[in-house]
Amino acid sequence: MGTNDDDKKTEGQLLSEKLCFDIKNCWDAASEEALKEIESFAKKYRGFLDRGKTEREFVEAALELLKDLDFKDMDVLLKETGRLKPGARVYQNIKGKSLVFAVIGHKPFPEGINIVGAHVDSPRIDLKTNPLYEDTELAMLDTHYYGGIKHYQWLTIPLAIHGTVISKDGFRRKICIGEDEDDPVFCITDLLPHLAKEQMAKKASDFIDGEGLDILAGSRPFKDPKAKDKVKLRLLSLLHEQYGIMEEDFAGAELEFVPAHKARDLGFDRSMIGAYGHDDRCCAFAALRGTLDLAGTAFPEKTVVCLLTDKEEIGSMGNTGAQSRLFENFVAYLGAKTLDTYSEISLRQCLGKSSMLSADVNSAYDPNYDSVYDKKNASYFGKGMVLSKATGRGGKFGGSEANAEFCRKVQGILNRNNVQWQYGDLGKVDKGGGGTIALDVANLGVEVLDCGIPVLSMHSPFEVISKIDLYTTYKGYVAFLREA
Ligand code: MN
Ligand code: MN
Repeated sequence: MGTNDDDKKTEGQLLSEKLCFDIKNCWDAASEEALKEIESFAKKYRGFLDRGKTEREFVEAALELLKDLDFKDMDVLLKETGRLKPGARVYQNIKGKSLVFAVIGHKPFPEGINIVGAHVDSPRIDLKTNPLYEDTELAMLDTHYYGGIKHYQWLTIPLAIHGTVISKDGFRRKICIGEDEDDPVFCITDLLPHLAKEQMAKKASDFIDGEGLDILAGSRPFKDPKAKDKVKLRLLSLLHEQYGIMEEDFAGAELEFVPAHKARDLGFDRSMIGAYGHDDRCCAFAALRGTLDLAGTAFPEKTVVCLLTDKEEIGSMGNTGAQSRLFENFVAYLGAKTLDTYSEISLRQCLGKSSMLSADVNSAYDPNYDSVYDKKNASYFGKGMVLSKATGRGGKFGGSEANAEFCRKVQGILNRNNVQWQYGDLGKVDKGGGGTIALDVANLGVEVLDCGIPVLSMHSPFEVISKIDLYTTYKGYVAFLREA
């Protein structure tokens, strides 16, 4: 700092180094080798995102990785072996939308397990049960959005349809249109500026209401002068030809519109990734990859579990959401098949001694929207894995808060493993808030801390994360699973 004796640090400098928490930029410390790993991890992640744009697709892609590493369906394995021994690799696929998997450790079940949990659903536009109608010879699809979206962000962008339809014969059909270069895409139209005077005067929240998010799906009529609703009819005929679908089949189908674009490197320096669905597939991928890589290299002391759930974006309800018994059932099953004498109390003991990282994205500080962030307590791109002690909104309502002892334990593990971490609350007090699956598992007695990856434009069709935060967080999950 322009002193004459440069090598000698002042008392104040030394004291500051000793006492202040200095959150560095991870890129500064990354070696050439690390940079290569960061890039290759980011590339794998982009590919995985493009394959897994819905919870079902993510689970399907994850199952392929699991099977490559000799993970077995728990029921199937137990039919062969009857028991789960240390080293066993098992999973439970919950209705194709949630996935729990484990590597059995050396330590006895009642001593607890280490868990990383994330969600694999993302905000999107779902079809209604009777969606297809025709208006002025345009075929339209009526929708109901899923999760917390800003409606206007979903207008005039190319959309792809993904989903599952069960036809009358009970046959399950996967639908995916709009992802191949040659596929058609879909969109929700917007009003031209020339006629938008009234629209533009509205508040952004009233700008377009949920009912207004109908999808443009066709315009060519069926050739028959006597038929009615000919565009709709021709569309149904195409769907029947190609997918065996009839109008009735929409009623119970899961058909979801998502942005049709692929995950892309972002910025001149390619340091970031722009994509649909980072929330929460960046954490889900880091958790998945972390658990698999740990299973591939080390034999865990404690049993490690990766929990990937559905329905977080609408409150984690239902039999594939984290509020259900799916996780508890899995752990009970592990206990029953590893212990000689299993009882309810051994399950409760196990849960009470277990530790979990609730892996979910955090809102990164955005220079464009300075006013909603508390700069001292925000998370930043390039500064590593974000720890959030508490979630919730206005007075911490509805969230989960980690205990001081557990926070310290996680900080210690990260420090020992040179995994850089930062603090991060979602935004300024009383500006809003959010939650994760943390409280659902904490309610079972498990120690849980929220931590994940900072994201910009959360819940938009094109969210952004930093490659180095993704990689750092992955490293953090591995360290936690091994040592907690
Ligand atoms: Mn999330
Ligand atoms: Mn979310």
